Amino acid sequence: MITLFVNGNIHTMDENLPHADAMVVDDNKFIFVGTKSEAYEFLSKSGAEYKEIDLGGKLVLPGFNDSHMHFIHFAKSFKSVSLSGAKSIKEIKERIKKSLENRKPGDTSWLEGEGWNQDYFEDEKRFPNKFDLDEISSDVPMLMMRTCFHIGVLNSAALKALGINKETASKYGDLVGLLPDGEPDGIIKESLLDNTKAKISTLNLETLKEIIVTAQDKAFAQGLTSVQSDDIGYVPNYDYDLLFRAFSELESEGKLHIRLGEQCLLEETSLVKKFFEKGYRHGWGTDKCRVNCIKLLADGSLGARTAALRQPYADDGNTTGLRMFTQEELDELVLLSHKNDCPVAIHAIGDGAIEMALDAIEKAQKAYPSHNPRHGIVHCQITDEALINRFKELNVLAFVQPIFIDYDMNIVYDRVGKKLAETSYVWKTMADKGIHVSFGTDCPVESLNTMPNIYSAVTRKNVTGDQKKVYLSNEAMSMEEAIHAYTVEGAYASGEEDIKGSITNGKLADFIVLDRDLFDLSCDEDILETKVVETYVDGKLVYRA
Ligand SMILES: [Zn+2]
Ligand SMILES: [Zn+2]
Repeated sequence: MITLFVNGNIHTMDENLPHADAMVVDDNKFIFVGTKSEAYEFLSKSGAEYKEIDLGGKLVLPGFNDSHMHFIHFAKSFKSVSLSGAKSIKEIKERIKKSLENRKPGDTSWLEGEGWNQDYFEDEKRFPNKFDLDEISSDVPMLMMRTCFHIGVLNSAALKALGINKETASKYGDLVGLLPDGEPDGIIKESLLDNTKAKISTLNLETLKEIIVTAQDKAFAQGLTSVQSDDIGYVPNYDYDLLFRAFSELESEGKLHIRLGEQCLLEETSLVKKFFEKGYRHGWGTDKCRVNCIKLLADGSLGARTAALRQPYADDGNTTGLRMFTQEELDELVLLSHKNDCPVAIHAIGDGAIEMALDAIEKAQKAYPSHNPRHGIVHCQITDEALINRFKELNVLAFVQPIFIDYDMNIVYDRVGKKLAETSYVWKTMADKGIHVSFGTDCPVESLNTMPNIYSAVTRKNVTGDQKKVYLSNEAMSMEEAIHAYTVEGAYASGEEDIKGSITNGKLADFIVLDRDLFDLSCDEDILETKVVETYVDGKLVYRA
């Protein structure tokens, strides 16, 4: 089946042919991109029958690629209590109470919620604790996660179910919050939170498939045709075989349209070894669901002061954040992955964690110089010039989330001081130095929405809040650079630049149609009003507004 698309304002993002008004799709690939008259000539020569679609002069772009998110968590979050935007601990309690009221009596299965942020509380700016949650229920175990997903709060029933108490707390170190008497206060952090999520997950093959199908439609509505996603921690007991089976069954049933590259969170040498022994590799799978890399978490978040800094926090001199690995542990994991030609994508927010990640990558590259997987760092927030230069020297990818500045511009000066704050979140500088910078949202940490993410990158202004602020305006990217990071660089980050990322003859026909021309807007705020009207994957329409 051949389709000719004409009268498009097609920004191909292919530097060899940046602009076109026609494209021809055969099956799932572009077979011609150029002018309308050339397209007719091409088709008449081939003699094949074709269908013609008029794009009405609208802007056409390659499908967006979210280079780091949590697709399964996003898909699953529709079933959790939403605590985002809550303005007080009281409001959190009310929302949880309300959701419990919808339960069948006697149902004491786990209740999960997410999205609270104490910075937005107007009563007391503190973490909720077990006493707050115990007021709501003493028998339904609850886990309520902070918006960063690095911190969660449990009620007493949950602590009991998990066996966390005064006696066992010490084995978790600072991953468990304690009261002065040594009893846990309900707060859990980082790896303990991750393990808890995996332990209490009730997803099975059927529910996984069901939520994937629902969530992909939300992605298409945002113009996303590819996502790179860290999901293993959201399936019961880190069962990645089950996860891949859900995707592959959907694919063979013809129901999977989104392209998902898994960033496999496996943080122990034995787990990574086993993964490779089972035959999983970088690029394993299909162009719909594949293995991209091994994902590692080197630190926490800036909001919670768990991002690892080289110097103590400017607003809390007692802490430099959390380091999830020793340097030796991180070196070993990176080396193992590197030897197996599998890239690592390391979550690192603080300059301390970024430095550790770069050191580990450098050592692996020196030990096995003939191997060159595209290692990357996810978030890359707190940096100085020397660290950024090392990204370039070591050819390390930067997976960044422009929308993070919406909130972080309010805290970064307090957390790290003026000097460091002004060399941080410098993605334009990074891209200008030739570093591969790709865009993502870390959804559901932030929303999946593509336009606010682009707006943040090109304006450096906040999206939310009444007062407009600008954070490091000289780091504003051009629209061209932002779209490049959201398409071409996304494909490069997963090693798939030969098959997608631009509207190019021979590549997969993944593209979107927008309701206005992002390159010709009268004001920045129009970006936020821009809508995706159609999304195509494999040349087939998967979304229409
Ligand atoms: Zn992360
Ligand atoms: Zn993430």
